[in-house]
Amino acid sequence: MRLIDIGVNLMNSAFDGDREEQILKAKKAGVGPLIITGSSLEQSRAALDFARVHGLYATAGVHPHNARYWNKESAALIRSMALPGGPAAGTGTAAGGTETGAGGTGTAAAGTEAADAGAVAGAAGTATADAGAIALGECGLDYDRDYSPRAEQRRCFEEQVKLAAELKLPLFLHVRSSPRGGSAWEDFFGILKTYRRDLTRMVVHCFTGSAGELEGCLELDAYIGITGWVCDERRGRHLWPLLGRIPAKRLLLETDAPYLLPPSLSPGGRRGRNESANLVYIAGFIAQKLGKTVETLAEETFKNTVEFFNLKIARTGENPSGF
Ligand SMILES: [Zn+2]
Repeated sequence: MRLIDIGVNLMNSAFDGDREEQILKAKKAGVGPLIITGSSLEQSRAALDFARVHGLYATAGVHPHNARYWNKESAALIRSMALPGGPAAGTGTAAGGTETGAGGTGTAAAGTEAADAGAVAGAAGTATADAGAIALGECGLDYDRDYSPRAEQRRCFEEQVKLAAELKLPLFLHVRSSPRGGSAWEDFFGILKTYRRDLTRMVVHCFTGSAGELEGCLELDAYIGITGWVCDERRGRHLWPLLGRIPAKRLLLETDAPYLLPPSLSPGGRRGRNESANLVYIAGFIAQKLGKTVETLAEETFKNTVEFFNLKIARTGENPSGF
């Protein structure tokens, strides 16, 4: 059984102490390759560097929380990250110049097995050595936290949607409404509908919406990303009957780690750090709700993921991470 985590915030500081080890731990659990979520220009660049060295994949985009930092250079920077061989931070070599590359082990190339595997992947010139970001995002609207003014969120989102249409890249989308009013979903659907004709694929990541909102996503022919949110009896129960309404060909699985640790994996009720390896548990939970085996679910979602992101493992049979 093999799963791909379509959304892990691996550049988050929660992983500063063991970023490389996370890859191995996931691999041992049957999860990989990992797709690192880019949520700001800086993080996207770091994610791309790290992914290239370690045979992983990364998205590039600006999360609605960071929309207020969007400026007239942002689109060009994302465009450059999305093109194969495009400039990442530092030198673009395996040593990469990122703070994260050196994490804990002295040098990027020494010490951990993961670093070795990455070096091999890089040396072999396989998938990610000079790859660009495989999707645009995480982008969208978040009227729940409102960390950026809503008008700026809409502008930042629309610019990235336009870019995805131009570059013919899939979109990794985030949307969260607020109990205080103003429907993020309405604005979200409005922007996507305007450009839908020119867009390829899109995934509404960490879907937590209603039956009607799910319907709206499926009308746009969007994929649906389900996280461990669904495992939360309190917050996720409304999603259980909706799982069966997602066509098997449109379902994708993710952890959104380090966020959203399933409650049953948090001893004593204290929310700890989530990890990609936990995707096995999340998949098992979803499979049970769907009345299918976890192996079947893994097979279906693996295929969906490869198709959605157009991953090189599908085209060549090569596997940069050695999975
Ligand atoms: Zn999100």
